[in-house]
Amino acid sequence: MMPSRFKHQVPKYKITRSEACINCGTCARTCPYGVHERIEGHNRVSPPIDYKCIGFECQSKEFCCIAKCPRQA
Ligand code: SF4
Ligand code: SF4
Repeated sequence: MMPSRFKHQVPKYKITRSEACINCGTCARTCPYGVHERIEGHNRVSPPIDYKCIGFECQSKEFCCIAKCPRQA
């Protein structure tokens, strides 16, 4: 049994970016849940924070990162 303080960090969804990613930062700007992050001064987006993603529910939302990515990454 894992300590409960880690419970919320068990990712429900696996977010990946393919090699096609050009680090444009669109996903970081669109996701309101902070899954994608591009730290000031970094030229690459940070590894996705999976556990914050709402998953398939997001596909119907205007901000869905999958629909907005210019490279389908
Ligand atoms: S929107 Fe797509 S191409 Fe742009 S940083 Fe995110 S995953 Fe990469
Ligand atoms: S699918 Fe939605 S909640 Fe998940 S990372 Fe993309 S924009 Fe954020």
